[in-house]
Amino acid sequence: MADCTAHVTLLAGCLLDGTGAPDQKDAAIRISGGRIESIESANAWPTDGASHVVDLREWWVMPGLIDAHMHLWGLTPGEVVPADFETRLASAERQAEALLRAGFTTVRDLGSPITPRIRDSTSTDRPTAPRILAAHVGLTGARGPWLIPQPSWWEARVVRGVASARDAVRRLHDEGVDVVKIGASTGPGAEGFGDTPTLTVDEIRAVCDAAHEFGLPVAAHAIGSEAVRRCVVGGVDTIEHGYGLNDEVCDLVAASDAWIVPTLRTRAVRASPEARATAGEQMDTLRRGGAAGVRYAAGTDSVGDAFTTHGSGNALEMELMGRVLSPDDALAAGTREAARMLGVDSETGTLEAGKRADLIAVPEDPRRDLSVLQRVGFVMRSGWVVRNDSGAADH
Ligand SMILES: [Zn+2]
Repeated sequence: MADCTAHVTLLAGCLLDGTGAPDQKDAAIRISGGRIESIESANAWPTDGASHVVDLREWWVMPGLIDAHMHLWGLTPGEVVPADFETRLASAERQAEALLRAGFTTVRDLGSPITPRIRDSTSTDRPTAPRILAAHVGLTGARGPWLIPQPSWWEARVVRGVASARDAVRRLHDEGVDVVKIGASTGPGAEGFGDTPTLTVDEIRAVCDAAHEFGLPVAAHAIGSEAVRRCVVGGVDTIEHGYGLNDEVCDLVAASDAWIVPTLRTRAVRASPEARATAGEQMDTLRRGGAAGVRYAAGTDSVGDAFTTHGSGNALEMELMGRVLSPDDALAAGTREAARMLGVDSETGTLEAGKRADLIAVPEDPRRDLSVLQRVGFVMRSGWVVRNDSGAADH
């Protein structure tokens, strides 16, 4: 692992900086102290014996990927009953490292009691995990999702009324969450789409007002038009899943400050009839929402089970989004737009001077084939080279 305190220069065959600017052939990205110092033409790049050089001239270089909705539950294959906490922690640490090596330099975990521990033990000093934003546990109504018999891989707390909602947010704040997760509808499940609202507008608004007072955003599991309408009216920042929406609610979301994270991977990779039906419904809502001007960010809802193993497969999300959105919009959803949605865009999401050196390299133009995001060959987080399959040793 190269020393991030040193000056490092990456020579990129083609740079997609993620800002929407045209791609740049033969770029020299100079990195110092974990941040991008400058981006210049490689032709003007001076020979500098003191500087590490990483030769990525055969590669496309772009911002590190972001999975804005996932769960590190620390599952092990075939696990039916949750293992003890320390076993799951060790497994979740391996999953976090797999995600980083797959090119995910930032993730948002929307529910796992393990993840705050990983977040707090990783750092930009020799990172072995992505940058993590964590929700810890969720809040929902008494008939809400996630209220499955314990022991479970994570828990939800029931809120009843405005005062209870405010108290629950206060407790989460004191426990150190980065985002408040609520369950505003049922489903998806065997009962069909599962779009029954589970919280009132007043309860959602109370959660949002309290969270915002503490500077915390609110992410809402919400499926179906009525649940999503309540979330928008109540002031939710991000709508998770958000499918099964009529055109009126698509327009309402588009006119609001809320984002939708459509979580396509989790249904697309399952073979059950319910999953196939909901996957089709997700794509249809994405198509109509995109036309209405809804802002999207990429999140997989992967939990690390046999279907949604954490790693390169998380990048399938951008490929699925690209079947409806343009390739540029699908790429932005997994980089710049996700960083904006998570409020970390001053640090990451694009490659510009002053930002963290969170970047990846892929062997082909990702705009021509989004599946190349599942074949990341070089990963840098905050200036640390965590993967280099380019065949070119840095020198
Ligand atoms: Zn989830």
